[in-house]
Amino acid sequence: MAITAAGISGWEISSNSASPPVAHAAHELRSHLRRVGAAGSTPGVIEVRAAPGTNDAFEVAVENDRVVISGESPRGALNGAYWLLEELGFAWIEPGEGGIAFSAPAPLDSGVYSQSPAFPRRTLILGQDALHDEWQDWMEWASRNRLNDLFFHDTPPSRPGRTSPRPVDAAALAEDGGGWLFERWDADGRAIAAAASRRGMSLQFGGHHLPTLLPRALFGDHPGWFPLRNGERDPRFNLCVSAPGAIGHLQEAAAAFVARFSGADIYHIWPDDIPGGGWCECSPCSALSPSDQALIATNAIAEAVARAAPGARVAYLAYHDTVTPPEFARPSANVTILWAPRERCYAHSFADPACAKNEKEYLEPFLGLLDMLGDDLSRLQVFEYYSDAILFKGLAPAHLGVLPADARGYAAAGVTNLQNLMVGDRPWLGPPWHAWWMARCAWDPT
Ligand SMILES: [Zn+2]
Ligand SMILES: [Zn+2]
Repeated sequence: MAITAAGISGWEISSNSASPPVAHAAHELRSHLRRVGAAGSTPGVIEVRAAPGTNDAFEVAVENDRVVISGESPRGALNGAYWLLEELGFAWIEPGEGGIAFSAPAPLDSGVYSQSPAFPRRTLILGQDALHDEWQDWMEWASRNRLNDLFFHDTPPSRPGRTSPRPVDAAALAEDGGGWLFERWDADGRAIAAAASRRGMSLQFGGHHLPTLLPRALFGDHPGWFPLRNGERDPRFNLCVSAPGAIGHLQEAAAAFVARFSGADIYHIWPDDIPGGGWCECSPCSALSPSDQALIATNAIAEAVARAAPGARVAYLAYHDTVTPPEFARPSANVTILWAPRERCYAHSFADPACAKNEKEYLEPFLGLLDMLGDDLSRLQVFEYYSDAILFKGLAPAHLGVLPADARGYAAAGVTNLQNLMVGDRPWLGPPWHAWWMARCAWDPT
């Protein structure tokens, strides 16, 4: 025997748990099946069950008059509900109610189906204001595609201390030149955290905010807090990690940052977004590589965050001149490593030995970072660029084979969090479409 969406649309839906993601699963089943409801459907029941674990896996048992969705966690049960809806013909190609597609497939046979994701954490990075403005739609879309983590990232960085409202016309916005994520979080942060919790999703927040926390205007009073470059203190980028005053100021500002933008699980307070040349050459710093200086700064931030937001973690960004592993510094307990190989080759998969560029410039340092983390690979996050319209403009090649091959390689290396940066959501068939494809590959890249 087998079931169809129309055939089960009138079935009772019950659950064994008061957990919000389980209630959301029941709500989603009801609202989707109602769309295809047929008169006179036979009686039956859909049971949604959740164990109190943290694993996203689930099992769905299909019988003639009964479907049992059993999640290993509440989020696992929600994943099971979406898996069932997909098998019955639903798809969430684009965000918003208009992006819900349905085409009746072959009926789903009776049997027991089990699924477990390749990556425990699967992340959509919303990389600009236009996406943050529509965060409800993007969160629901990500959740329906079984992503379980949303990263609010601002490109370009937002600015602290603004008093004027966000401009509404394009020319004024362009002249302003900054992101408006801070104001968005001030207004919606609590609602974002509540909506994420209802879906069993976690949140990440931030971007290149080390310079936000150490304003360049401090240079006049404290030139020694800034990097020595070519024999002179230079206020343009980063800081001198050997200056106790700079570290102290950074820590105070980091504590205020996570207090203001509470609700995230991982914070991103990265150095300046430059290819290199922003670190210090003073006597103590000259012995430290850019990666060492960046990790020392990240550890200092993490120490303040451990006090201000216990349980939250801080990401060290391995990117541009900090891709090479640090020689001396080691990440503190609440520091994760964020691998962001922006200039890698996307014609070949990350782990493809046929690609000299990826092997020499990225695979080697990546393996070095794995070595540094030892057996604690849960701290390794991968920040990928499949939906980045800044990197790919409007013309991303379809990464049909590269993306799943990347996912297989990263999963085999022990990475637990695969992320996909989205900047620009139009046209959907350009870079943005990869958000949908990445969600599928992060679940099952085989
Ligand atoms: Zn220095
Ligand atoms: Zn290549």
